[in-house]
Amino acid sequence: MSLKITDDCTSCDACVSVCPNTAITAGDVIYLINAELCTECVGAEDSPQCQMVCPADCIVVGNTESKDVLTARYHAIHG
Ligand code: SF4
Ligand code: SF4
Repeated sequence: MSLKITDDCTSCDACVSVCPNTAITAGDVIYLINAELCTECVGAEDSPQCQMVCPADCIVVGNTESKDVLTARYHAIHG
């Protein structure tokens, strides 16, 4: 997945621009993370950037994945 946004999202838009994989978009009610694009920022940053900027603390782990899986996903996205 691996992170997801909970119903506490206030649609403030702060997380979109910090995602290295453009995995976050505005949904009908709350913002959404595309599970096929999120790498927990592995490959680009030391920690999940969206969690760091979210004022509502509403971005949580949705599905635990290994660093190898996340790294492979990052390289598949960026070549
Ligand atoms: S953890 Fe990183 S890759 Fe995943 S949605 Fe947040 S900013 Fe994007
Ligand atoms: S930063 Fe948090 S509250 Fe703002 S849009 Fe992203 S998930 Fe929602």
